[in-house]
Amino acid sequence: MKKIATIIGARPQFIKAAPLSFEFANSSEMQEICIHTGQHFDENMSGIFFRELGLPKPAYQLDIHGGPHGQMTGRMMEAIEAILIENRPDAVLVYGDTNSTLAGGLSAVKLHIPVIHVEAGLRSFNRRMPEEINRVLVDHVSSVLLCPTSAAVENLKAEGITAGVHQVGDLMYDATLKMTPVAAKHSRIMEVLSLEPKRYGVATLHRAENTDSPEALRKAMEFLMHLSEQVPLVLPLHPRTRQALVRAGIAVTEDRLKLIDPVGYFDMHVLLSNASIVATDSGGVQKEAYFHRVPCVTLRSETEWVETIDNGWNRLWHQEEYQPRREIQEYGTGDSAKRILEILKSA
Ligand code: UDP
Repeated sequence: MKKIATIIGARPQFIKAAPLSFEFANSSEMQEICIHTGQHFDENMSGIFFRELGLPKPAYQLDIHGGPHGQMTGRMMEAIEAILIENRPDAVLVYGDTNSTLAGGLSAVKLHIPVIHVEAGLRSFNRRMPEEINRVLVDHVSSVLLCPTSAAVENLKAEGITAGVHQVGDLMYDATLKMTPVAAKHSRIMEVLSLEPKRYGVATLHRAENTDSPEALRKAMEFLMHLSEQVPLVLPLHPRTRQALVRAGIAVTEDRLKLIDPVGYFDMHVLLSNASIVATDSGGVQKEAYFHRVPCVTLRSETEWVETIDNGWNRLWHQEEYQPRREIQEYGTGDSAKRILEILKSA
């Protein structure tokens, strides 16, 4: 039996982990040990996703969050290293681009434990983004690199990484296909917020580049207020953004821009699937807008998910027009977790 230690810690990682953890749980050849770093810990940023997506309770819960990047990453490394020494897994699997990803990847490689990186090869080419640093470093210490898109495979090639690279589609698409009907059955968010299908938009905002300085935050909020004059918007606020708004003294009073607490997976997918537009700086939400065939505007000057732009479903906020619209083939058919499991069995 192959023992895989999975490191998760942030909201998008719970969502990506759900379809793959399901495959691990049903495999007689693989055993998963899940380590939750605690980077996101609130009920509405963590607990609800475990329940709604049916994720098993992590074997380890580290409760490490807050503080500057170095401190948070260092504390995680110290704790993860001890767990890896005790458990001696055959490989460590990390998702995406957070500090939990970096801490897991570095702890493992220093112990000569192979690193599997899910969502390898994504690049914004903006080294001021903490996520970009995390993903570049983790890709360079990984021995199995699972890329969602052909652009990601090409990015790795340009950095000289070709061994162990596989294009596997997108785990978030697996989750969306499986969970959207379940979400529709359970969520009451449309009634709670008195929303009519296709007569509102959904926004999210949390990237450091949009929240760390009051000027950047003001610019992003002004963009959303302007957009809300055309179509009313619902904005589930990331805790970081709520704090940043208070710090910057920005009060949003507009009726047409409704600020709510972060919502769970079911509510989010019902909101997205009924929206007429999505405005976001989230990586995951840009793709999910496409999964629900809703046009997106990305509140950033670049994106890692270039195929959403090239195929006309997304535009950056400084772009006036969408490209001609086509279906995107890259994200697979909802079989990404199964493809990953097959690769890991023989890796
Ligand atoms: N999401 C959610 N509730 C919210 C906001 C986002 O369930 O209030 C989900 C969203 O649908 C997507 C994921 O969280 O699946 C994206 O996470 P986030 O934007 O935090 O991270 P990123 O994708 O930018 O790494």
